[in-house]
Amino acid sequence: MSELIPVGSFQGMKSLNKSAILNIVRQYGPISRAKIAKLTKLTPPTVTNLVGELIESRLVVESTLGESTGGRKPILLRINSSAFYVVGLYAGAKRLKAVTANLDGNVLAQVEMRYQANQTSEQFLQTLETAVENVMQATQKPKESFLGIGVGMHGLVDPEQGFSLFAPHLNLRNIPIKFRLEKKFQLPVEVENDVRAQALGESWFGKGVGIPNFICVHVGTGVGAGIIINNKLYRGTSFTAGEIGHTTIDSNGPKCSCGNYGCLETMVGGGALARRAQQAIRLGKESILEEWVQGDLDEINGEMLCKAAQLGDSVAAEVLADTGRYLGIGLANLINTLNPALIILSGGVSKAEDYLLKPLLNTLEKRALTKPANAVRIVISELGENSIAIGAFTLVLNKLFTPSGLSDAVNDSLI
Ligand SMILES: [Zn+2]
Repeated sequence: MSELIPVGSFQGMKSLNKSAILNIVRQYGPISRAKIAKLTKLTPPTVTNLVGELIESRLVVESTLGESTGGRKPILLRINSSAFYVVGLYAGAKRLKAVTANLDGNVLAQVEMRYQANQTSEQFLQTLETAVENVMQATQKPKESFLGIGVGMHGLVDPEQGFSLFAPHLNLRNIPIKFRLEKKFQLPVEVENDVRAQALGESWFGKGVGIPNFICVHVGTGVGAGIIINNKLYRGTSFTAGEIGHTTIDSNGPKCSCGNYGCLETMVGGGALARRAQQAIRLGKESILEEWVQGDLDEINGEMLCKAAQLGDSVAAEVLADTGRYLGIGLANLINTLNPALIILSGGVSKAEDYLLKPLLNTLEKRALTKPANAVRIVISELGENSIAIGAFTLVLNKLFTPSGLSDAVNDSLI
């Protein structure tokens, strides 16, 4: 196994030109050396040398013969996608999900774990370590073939230090995720906010492929957005860009966990939906939900509302329609500010598409300026339950394939 990339670093990938070539092969492979030289503007001997090193590291392999333009048929190169693997972790509000994937992003194994009640940071980190161990084992590949671990962590994250600054649903602060996992597994670890990681996953494997400017909006227990500008994740000055859950929709609205009133999260988050359904029932409206929870209205949750609406429950349908309108206000603000080509909706709320999308689009029509509103498409994510875990391992792939500005510059000129 001596030809493998040294474990614990991307040492074999340090050359900017090499990663530029690797990214070209990923995006356009199978591709000839001559075509790579043309696209990267590197000289043919440089390309031949660097491709030689990439083949030696087993990241690239020679595959089929291409069409000849006169002389010998060129040998085409492709990514050796099944020689290496990456791990993606989603540390959500209530549970932990771990997946492994090959370099094409195909998921090979997954495990799910629950947290201990009232856990400490140490217990949380131990659960992360166990999840990584279990999913690597389930993948049944040699340890040396794993290239890195990506973590999509809910709450505020410092991606440069790999710290969770504040995990509101676990009530934990300053968790050194990167440090601990790197120490334990001797692999590079990337940590990012969950929705921002998902946005990157969407741009590699989801509805955002080939779209330079889009926003991924996750509406679940919490509400957040990941913003892609010019094919790059936009983090903001102190890594909080996209916290749309805490933009004000109604200054007289309910109190939010952040201390303000009427934040978007208090109007469209899972808790808000349950609260509005409870209020309607308490005011005497009839609903199947009351039967389902046997009178204990505190048990009502967002998932139940979707099911009840499908069965024709008018309270549930009304709550979801209101949610669509509020979300429409939030998205109109985003659209007027950033003028994206696409908004990808994900999270529990996207399951209520049938009841929510129409009032949402009506609100956008009224509130977003005509030009940006006409330019934007609103779609539902298709990455499914693993969307954030997929985003998490994409953090590692992104680092491997585009660790510098150079390859991005090459990308930009190709788009
Ligand atoms: Zn708030």
